[in-house]
Amino acid sequence: MKNKTTNKQDKSHHADNYMPKSSTGGILKNYIVKKSPALSADFLYEGIIRGNITLLSQAITLVESNQKKHKAKASKIVTRCLQHKTSSVRIGITGVPGVGKSTFIEAFGMYLTELGNKVAVLAVDPSSGVRKGSILADKTRMEHLGNNPRAYIRPTAAGSSLGGVANNTRETITLCEAAGFNIILVETVGVGQSETAVHAMVDFFLLLQLPGAGDELQGIKRGITEIADAIVINKADGDLMPKAKLAKVIFNRVLHLYPPKQSDWQPKVLLCSALEKSGIGAVWKMINDFLKITKENGYFDKNRISQNKYWLKETVDEELKTAFYENPEVKKNWPVIADALSKNKITSYEAARQLMQLYEKKS
Ligand code: GDP
Repeated sequence: MKNKTTNKQDKSHHADNYMPKSSTGGILKNYIVKKSPALSADFLYEGIIRGNITLLSQAITLVESNQKKHKAKASKIVTRCLQHKTSSVRIGITGVPGVGKSTFIEAFGMYLTELGNKVAVLAVDPSSGVRKGSILADKTRMEHLGNNPRAYIRPTAAGSSLGGVANNTRETITLCEAAGFNIILVETVGVGQSETAVHAMVDFFLLLQLPGAGDELQGIKRGITEIADAIVINKADGDLMPKAKLAKVIFNRVLHLYPPKQSDWQPKVLLCSALEKSGIGAVWKMINDFLKITKENGYFDKNRISQNKYWLKETVDEELKTAFYENPEVKKNWPVIADALSKNKITSYEAARQLMQLYEKKS
């Protein structure tokens, strides 16, 4: 694991001079990035692999940019970072708002850094574009981790579509790994499509639940319970302990009803209290058990490859859709065709076919 983040011998033009003086990570503040309108892709790459947080952040900003030239530069950096082989574990964390995700990530992240790991915390939150319900927007939610030099918290990237946000997060994972972060935590809210997206970019998917589950799944869609590698019942403390224990029994039963996973991993149910920091070590031990099994049986590598293929298709789908809706002929003729449709002159299928023909002709 590359943990070196500074090199005091470097000359003034070196990438490491873009290092924040106060900290090598954590919440980025109180430092000024040297004014440089366009740092080259090579320069940013060199800085990233040295663990330079300022340059890492700048590269992530390029990844998140909607400008084509930024995207092109970002793509160059990400491609180089991909060649930089690292050994990392990517963990997705989901659960309904209020279940204790940020409290858990704070406790878990601190625990992991104390073991010598470098932890990056990212988020996929399609609602972040409008800030409402946005996760990680308020970094005071993870105060200690935010000030921890071995941790890097990247606030939620805004984006117009889930596909776009997810793609940015995936590229950000690659950059963080090249920068020496060996544990990547990807948070998402347990209320929508984003769980599937996060599940398709992590090695291990963890669902946080509240005590007292009953058999109603606490607003979490059944599908999410099914894709989880573990259910961790948080708030197993004080008066909530008996309810937490009951929930464990119920979820264990639920998990056994699902078909076996391709990974050969039998999902587990654990109890923890993020507030009291109990049960956190057991979660990490369980993830290590998972890693051992899936690395030995080959699933770990196979899964990462099939995830890349999944995202190839998702990205093509997304790009095609954008190209179609932005096509000038399609845009121009849309109202006329929609009008014909609303007057029952043509069917929806025919309307779509006509628009597709215009698109194909033009492209
Ligand atoms: P999030 O919306 O899922 O990120 O949830 P938060 O981490 O913001 O936690 C929501 C509330 O639950 C806060 O008031 C926390 O203090 C509380 N909380 C989080 N973890 C625990 C825990 O383990 N035990 C108890 N009793 N409360 C907790």
